[in-house]
Amino acid sequence: MNRFFYYSLLLVVVALTNSCTSNKYATTNRVYKKQVRAFAKLLREYPISDSFATATPWVGTTNFSMRRPSLVVIHHTAQKSCDQTLRTFTLPRTAVSSHYVICRDGTVHHMLNDLLRGHHAGVSKWGGATDLNSSSIGIEIDNDGTEPFSPDQISSLLRVLGYLKRAFTIPQSSFVGHADIAPGRKVDPSRRFPWQTLAQNGFGYWYDTTGVKVPEHFNALQALRIIGYNTANEKNAIQSYKIHFVPQDTTSLLTETDRKILFSLVGKYQ
Ligand SMILES: [Zn+2]
Repeated sequence: MNRFFYYSLLLVVVALTNSCTSNKYATTNRVYKKQVRAFAKLLREYPISDSFATATPWVGTTNFSMRRPSLVVIHHTAQKSCDQTLRTFTLPRTAVSSHYVICRDGTVHHMLNDLLRGHHAGVSKWGGATDLNSSSIGIEIDNDGTEPFSPDQISSLLRVLGYLKRAFTIPQSSFVGHADIAPGRKVDPSRRFPWQTLAQNGFGYWYDTTGVKVPEHFNALQALRIIGYNTANEKNAIQSYKIHFVPQDTTSLLTETDRKILFSLVGKYQ
């Protein structure tokens, strides 16, 4: 076989291999691009055609920017593999998505432009804010909900979080779990999720109860509310707080230790 023929054959094989791997989501990628083009067209319009109409001539301000995400919500997929999650997020009938999917081996799939609205939060509330899909970035961690999170996965997650924090100036308090914003409805990421490691890296806060003396008048439920929890149902709010901060305790009772933890936390989240 002469050298030219050999290299030509090699090129064909490489091209075929690439097209096979990149074609798996070619159809849904076209759907994504078409949808983004439609949104871009809407953005290019002056006051959009279905907005509040006045008879006065349009005067466009010169001072504006894109809306930006201000919260990061972390999930576990409760699925068996990253492939299964990618499939779920590319089937229109599921109507669910997230901006990022992080596989067990640390691979990061960025599935949606950070400036667009994902469908990951559902009915949820954090502080006074509702419709959290509109203000947040969703990150799905490939995990079945019972297994530990892999070190490769957590190190990729920390890199993604670092990028998001810098890009959108997201405050340290605004890195939360799905369970935090949807008490009684969601329990992800599971009790095995390393929130303390995240806090040590500047994403969310952790507590220090060393030498903490809780004042008698301290109201633990009010502290939960100040941190951000929806306390409309107290038991559910306490359960979500425990999943995040006291994962070894599966009760929904506030103990003296919890009062110390909450007293320590509220000062940071306030
Ligand atoms: Zn979730």
